[in-house]
Amino acid sequence: MKCMKCGRETFESRNTEAIELENGCLLVIRNIPCMKCSECDEVFYTGDVVEQIEQIAAAAKTLTQELMVVNYSTAA
Ligand SMILES: [Zn+2]
Repeated sequence: MKCMKCGRETFESRNTEAIELENGCLLVIRNIPCMKCSECDEVFYTGDVVEQIEQIAAAAKTLTQELMVVNYSTAA
C-alpha cells in the first residue's frame, strides 16, 4: 500500500487513537494495527479496522466513564 498523502511506501505499525465521544467520554484505543508512511508518518487503517474502531466507540458510548482506555487486540 502506498501513502495517500505523499505516495511513498507504508509499513505495518501500531497506533494509539483518542476519540472524544458525544457523551463527553474520551476513548483511547491502543495498539491499533495500521499502515504508517515511512516518509510523512501519515497513518492509514484498513476498512475492517475502521469498522472495529466504530464498534468499540459505539460500545463505549453506553458507559459513563470520563476516560476509557482499551487495547485494540483485546477489545476487537
Ligand atoms: Zn506519506
